[in-house]
Amino acid sequence: MKSICVFCGANFNGDVQLKQAIDHLAEIMVNQNISLVFGGGKVGVMGLIADAVLQRGGKAIGVIPGFLMDKEVGHTGLTEMHVVENMHQRKQLMNELCDGIITLPGGFGTLEEFFEVLTWLQLGLHHKPIGLLNVNGFYDFLLKQMDVMVANRFLKPTNRNLVLSSPHPQELIDLMYNFTALPDGVWFKDQHLS
Ligand code: AMP
Repeated sequence: MKSICVFCGANFNGDVQLKQAIDHLAEIMVNQNISLVFGGGKVGVMGLIADAVLQRGGKAIGVIPGFLMDKEVGHTGLTEMHVVENMHQRKQLMNELCDGIITLPGGFGTLEEFFEVLTWLQLGLHHKPIGLLNVNGFYDFLLKQMDVMVANRFLKPTNRNLVLSSPHPQELIDLMYNFTALPDGVWFKDQHLS
């Protein structure tokens, strides 16, 4: 992987374990020559991961819609900044620029981004690994909800298994390297669960 897109919150709660995980992820990415692609903001977890990568001499590439430049305080020290027209273009370009995706803790925006690229993977529109960095059990309930969806036959186990997760950045990246997407068309062939 040459670049990883990180979805994450525009807020930060001051959690020490989360800060450590962000720094550890940045260290691994820089050591393995993996660029960061992210939402381009200077605030919250977004700003922390960008600064952690840049401070270690890595590359950080931002993708931000013009109208969010002020609101999310566009980061001015990035290796590259793409200013796009809207949220859809943002996600599209972030996905095009990366070889894999990691989701850190965040809010609605983070989950929206995560589920959209996950849906694209399920549909075979891309074949990139998608990981949840489950720091301190932050995503335990979300993972549990996915199991509830499987138990209720709204989600196929094969699609549930597309979601890679680990509390440890290196373990998550290893899972991403070993990931093989479903062959094209599998989702459509066996779509109905009942
Ligand atoms: P949040 O997790 O709510 O703090 O949001 C994290 C990031 O997701 C912020 O940069 C938001 O601007 C961004 N975001 C929210 N909704 C969307 C969307 N529909 N498409 C692209 N980015 C989004």
